[in-house]
Formats: sequence, C-alpha cells, structure tokens
Amino acid sequence: VPTIRAQRIPEYVPDAKFYKVEAILRPWRVSQVSSALLKIGIRGVTVSDVRGFGAQGGSAERHGGSEFSEDNFVAKVKMEIVVSKDQVEAVLETIIQEARTGEIGDGKIFLVPISDVIRVRTGERGEKAEKMTGGRSDLFIN
Ligand code: ATP
Ligand code: GLN
Repeated sequence: VPTIRAQRIPEYVPDAKFYKVEAILRPWRVSQVSSALLKIGIRGVTVSDVRGFGAQGGSAERHGGSEFSEDNFVAKVKMEIVVSKDQVEAVLETIIQEARTGEIGDGKIFLVPISDVIRVRTGERGEKAEKMTGGRSDLFIN
C-alpha cells in the first residue's frame, strides 16, 4: 500500500500549508486518475467539464478558422484537489502517471498556494478542515 506522504518536498513559492493541484486532463483519463488518488488516500476532489485551447487546440483546425472561434476549443476535465503541502508531490506523481499518453493534449497541472480551508458544516479552519476523517484516508499515515 503506497503511503500518501511524499519523500522530498521542493520549496514551493509562495510557501503555504495547503496547495491546490489544478489539473486540466483528457476526459477519458479522469476515472483512472481519481481511482489512483483514492488509493493514496485522497478523497476530496472537485471536477468540472471545461473547454480549452493549448498546443493541441488544434494545429489542424487553426488553418481553417480563426484562432478564437469557439469550435476550436477541446473538451477537457479540470480536477481540483486541495491537499497539505506534504501530499503535493504524491498527488502530482499519481496524476502524471495515470493521465499521461505522451501525445500532445495530455494536459497541464497548476499548483496554487491556498490561504485557508473552511469546513462549512463545522466552521473548522486550517488543518482540521482540510483533513478528511472517518473514511479511507484514515487507513493511511495521517
Ligand atoms: P463534511 O465532513 O461536512 O461532509 P467534507 O470535508 O467531507 O465535509 P464535503 O462537504 O463532503 O466536505 O465536500 C463538498 C465538496 O467539496 C466535495 O463534493 C468536493 O467537490 C469539494 N471538496 C471537498 N474537499 C475537497 C478538497 N480537499 N479538494 C477539492 N475539493 C474538495
Ligand atoms: N489531506 C487530507 C487527508 O489527509 C486529504 C485531502 C484530500 O483528500 N484532498 O485526509
């Protein structure tokens, strides 16, 4: 069973206790990514259907229409995962491993420092709010 804690934490700038891993991925890879995240104890995930424009978007189509024409946007899924600093590297590795095909259009990941986490039900803030209790992640080192 893999542990959720990363071996080495790089010096992210700016420094924060929590980070949001925001990954723009191929829609058909998302279920693989989320089940792999579950296996390392990550259960708090938000996904949205989005449409984007990157290197893929699309060298072929661009010849025909304007770069800004709506039908050039490619369907993607955005996964947003807020985790504590020492979980970031494990989450990044998992996403890359599960989402990568090696072809143009695999997506991109943005790492965003988070100021605070507030649980609406209890009003808890910070570590207490970020930690998911009572479930699967309790099986892992927490
Ligand atoms: P509670 O114990 O009150 O249920 P919770 O921490 O389990 O609180 P939920 O209320 O179940 O949180 O979460 C609501 C939604 O917030 C989830 O469906 C998910 O979209 C999003 N979410 C929760 N935690 C995270 C997280 N760490 N990262 C990204 N999204 C999250
Ligand atoms: N850090 C939380 C925990 O250890 C998990 C966060 C998440 O699931 N996004 O329980």
